[in-house]
Order: sequence, then C-alpha cells, then structure tokens
Amino acid sequence: MQQSKPDWIQQSFHQLQKYQDLAAKIRHKYRPRRRFERWRDSQDGQAWKQQQFNRIQGICPDCGHQLPAIAHFQIDHIKPLKTHPDLATDLSNLQLLCGPCNQRKACQIKPPKK
Ligand SMILES: [Zn+2]
Repeated sequence: MQQSKPDWIQQSFHQLQKYQDLAAKIRHKYRPRRRFERWRDSQDGQAWKQQQFNRIQGICPDCGHQLPAIAHFQIDHIKPLKTHPDLATDLSNLQLLCGPCNQRKACQIKPPKK
C-alpha cells in the first residue's frame, strides 16, 4: 500500500504552493508601481513633468501654493494605483501635486477591503 505519497512530501508541496501564490500576489501588487516608476524616470516622464510644471506655472492645483522648483512636485495618480493599476502610466490620470498634497492624498486612500 505505497500508492499515495508520504505526508511530508504532500506537506512540502502544499507549502511550496503557498509560497508561489504569495510570490504571485506580491508581483501583481508591485508591477504597476514599477511600471510607473520606470516611466517617471525615463526621458518621456521627465519631459512630461517639465511640461506640466510649465503649464501650472509652479502652482499646486490642490493647495494653490506656488513653488519655485520642479523638485517640489510629485506625480499624483488621480485615480489611485491601488484601485486602477491599469492607469499607472495613463497621462490623463496623472497630475502634479506638491509633495505635502500628494502625501496627504496618499494617506486618505484606504486600501481596499478583502
Ligand atoms: Zn499642494
């Protein structure tokens, strides 16, 4: 009666499967942000940011403060990455906000409940 695999092998397979599922979840979660960061750091992304900075003349659309340098601005996802990963690099979903406004907005977004 040696037809089924011993328990320890079954358990190892089960454990491995769990780690593979976890790895897939982590990959899925971080892929859109990576894609966005690659774009943001590319020439295209930098050019877009400069263009937006010129367009808003250094004035944060949220708080209305005028900030002298482009470094004070961050690229915000109007519809958050968490809920709209497909819009990670969709220009119509991106805007510049000053650092504090972007942080404040990020804090207000609650992660989706399971
Ligand atoms: Zn602001």
